[in-house]
Amino acid sequence: MKKLCKSIYLVLLITIAALCGCNEPEPIKALIISGQNNHNWKVSHLAIKAILENSGIFTTDIELTSPAGGDMSSFTPQFDKYDLVILDYNGDRWSAKTDSAFLKYVKKGGGVIVYHAADNAFAGWEEFNRIIALGGWEGRNEKSGPYCYVEDNKLKLDYSPGHGGSHGMQREYAMHCHNSKHPITQGLPDNWMHAKDEMYDSMRGPANIKDLLYSGKADRNTGGSGREEPLVFTVDYEKARIFHIMLGHCGPTLEENPAMQCTGFQTLLLRGAEWAATGKVTQPTPSDFPTDKKISLRKDYGMSYFNIGESNK
Ligand code: ZN
Repeated sequence: MKKLCKSIYLVLLITIAALCGCNEPEPIKALIISGQNNHNWKVSHLAIKAILENSGIFTTDIELTSPAGGDMSSFTPQFDKYDLVILDYNGDRWSAKTDSAFLKYVKKGGGVIVYHAADNAFAGWEEFNRIIALGGWEGRNEKSGPYCYVEDNKLKLDYSPGHGGSHGMQREYAMHCHNSKHPITQGLPDNWMHAKDEMYDSMRGPANIKDLLYSGKADRNTGGSGREEPLVFTVDYEKARIFHIMLGHCGPTLEENPAMQCTGFQTLLLRGAEWAATGKVTQPTPSDFPTDKKISLRKDYGMSYFNIGESNK
């Protein structure tokens, strides 16, 4: 009898554990695309992976293209298997099959993150330029669209001729919020200091920005435009949820990588990723978020902040 009671008790325990397990939110499945870039993609895609996985909210897969000039026909990611696609890619055009699979995924309401130099890619691909809203370099000029900047809290479009894409010297700079009610920005300070990074300016494109979230003032004395530049925003494109973040120039190593170690950058990446995948943000305001005077770094990409290292030991 005693043995039977013990068995029933065990079955009960297992059932309760299983039921509790059902209430755990499913991890968000993210795909990181990399493999070619004029940046240090060998470090950046691993930094993105670490930031996402250390939060405990995401699982990540990585798909790398062939090296520049290689055969692209074998690069055929299964976009539909994922809640979120993160573009860390600036290189050769994909195959026509992969182009159309990506467009299909996005148009159906897929989640996308456009990270830093991913907005340099595919200058001649019109549909891609609508997905990023603004891009730079790779021959972009007034034919790519107007130069979009911020003045009096509003987006302004300058159609006059000129190049698309530039940046001054890397430096720490202030981020200015334009929409504190958006799920991605809610609860974060309106002004905060970003760690040493490039600030993209003079970006051009169809400028189909949905919600401008943050801008920064490009310093003329260090080679910038002298204007307030849109740096973080969502894009109005079909049913998709697209989060474009121009921050995060990658350093030479994971250890020497201040722009991606910035708690502000990591928080925006995590919140933007959750929003792009689900339309919601459940993450609280981090206690170590930068202030309007002081930068904040998570050199371990959030491992100790989220206590992920302990459970893996
Ligand atoms: Zn860069």
